[in-house]
Amino acid sequence: MTPEIINLIFPNPLPTPSEIEAKYPPRQLPEGAKVTRVAPSPTGFMHIGGIYAGLLSERIAHQSGGKFYLRIEDTDQKRKVDGAVELISNSLGRYGIHADEGVDKNGHDFGSYGPYTQSQRKDIYQAYVKDFLEKGLAYPCFCAAEDLDIMRKIQEKTSVRPGYYGKYAKCRNLTDEQILENLKAGKPFVIRFKSNGDNNKRMMIKDLIKGDLALPENDIDIVIMKSDGLPTYHFAHLIDDHLMGTTHVTRGDEWVSSVPLHIQLFASRGWKAPKYAHFAPLQKSDNGNKRKLSKRHDPEANIMYFWEKGYPENALIEYLLNLINASFEDWRRNNPDKNAFDFPVNFNKISNAAGALFDFVKLNSISKDVVAAMSAEQVFEAVLKWAKEYNPAFATRLEDNRDYVTKILNIERNIGKKSRKDLTKWEDVESDIAYFFDDLFQPNPALLSPISATDVRAIADEFMAAYHDTDDKDTWFAHIKSIAERHGFATDMKVHKENPSAFKGNVSDVAKVLRVLTTGRDKTPDLYQIMQILGVDRIKRRLSAW
Ligand code: GLU
Repeated sequence: MTPEIINLIFPNPLPTPSEIEAKYPPRQLPEGAKVTRVAPSPTGFMHIGGIYAGLLSERIAHQSGGKFYLRIEDTDQKRKVDGAVELISNSLGRYGIHADEGVDKNGHDFGSYGPYTQSQRKDIYQAYVKDFLEKGLAYPCFCAAEDLDIMRKIQEKTSVRPGYYGKYAKCRNLTDEQILENLKAGKPFVIRFKSNGDNNKRMMIKDLIKGDLALPENDIDIVIMKSDGLPTYHFAHLIDDHLMGTTHVTRGDEWVSSVPLHIQLFASRGWKAPKYAHFAPLQKSDNGNKRKLSKRHDPEANIMYFWEKGYPENALIEYLLNLINASFEDWRRNNPDKNAFDFPVNFNKISNAAGALFDFVKLNSISKDVVAAMSAEQVFEAVLKWAKEYNPAFATRLEDNRDYVTKILNIERNIGKKSRKDLTKWEDVESDIAYFFDDLFQPNPALLSPISATDVRAIADEFMAAYHDTDDKDTWFAHIKSIAERHGFATDMKVHKENPSAFKGNVSDVAKVLRVLTTGRDKTPDLYQIMQILGVDRIKRRLSAW
């Protein structure tokens, strides 16, 4: 391509590739250290799959003593949304997925291999596009969208493989004169890569998750620079992952079929291609069928769903690690006190075919364990933080009743195997503890049936007459037992079972009456502790109100 053509395409001065390379020296890292990245597009939506990808890449890098960075892929300016970078950066940070370099939540770069936002790298891409043109590796294409449309229809009709290649690559063989003429006429253009691949040949690829793949070589002259002067994903990936020293590209498997092209692009420059690890997207079970977790149909595809519900961050991390490598569960059992980030993630153990199934039963069970291992104070702080954002009225209640609520949260907590495991997420706390507050307490006499009103009254009155909050649990229970005995309820479960018709019920029915009257519920944690926290006055008021 003549200098005249190149100057018409790039009239403004650009750095040379060697000037650029000098600014991106090879990273000085220990042997075996991996450099990975997460490269989301700022669309204003953070898919849970993005957190999965970030976590996987971060672990692979940091556990090898390497570097993990965040790159914002915003070359598709139409999809760009305000606040999207902040959302990405906040989301990763919130889950402790720490980037060594990248873009912070204010959109500012940190790290010395930037800029990390692709739209700020236009000159860099263009410098290489120019170099591709000079080396005869690329050419301008003036085909209009309508021309390409017609071509695609012909290909469809004649059942040939779609794409811009071979005889369909119309602008590939334009003469310099024709190119000049088009440029001078101000015709819009893109720049295409001049592929030397042969679609009939296969390229052997080693994918770190999918294993060995034999994929057809790329013969399509893909667009590397769009008419707006920005690169396509393929080209930006080449330049960025090369300059930024990426050693391992972990990304969704929608990119697998592009690997031959990507390897071809790296080879065209004589650059070492990174290793590739493609993971399948997260799945969801829909009426027994597995399908991709969809942004449009599944609220849980959006990471904000987990914030609104108040899932503890480390519960989600533990769950995602469990999806990444199923061996996480055994590891956790053997290392109950270790930080989840100490778990060694392995590409080999990622399922290579089907995507991991996102399953709430498992997530909730992990979350319950995570919450159970927290102290009452930690739970209080986490709930308060959540409430300030999603339930301000409840946040005020929490702040006004800090000690009271902490005591409530401490019921049956941190007592080993018997610790409470009924709390899954912060959203549930308000209704969970509502009965501790007089304005939220809802009596529920229907739960008392089939115990007669006379018995209920007698149980309530007699309990009240001799309830002392200084009693220990045994004395408290002996009191309930004596009420049971006096009113024809068995105090021994076995005796009751052997001869049920001889009794109105057993001591647990008596306790139930007290439970229902004081809490409005028939299932609660330890009633003795609940009463200790409710206090004598509240108990008496509730028992006599019935
Ligand atoms: N921006 C691309 C995406 O969101 C990144 C793929 C990659 O990691 O290379 O799919």
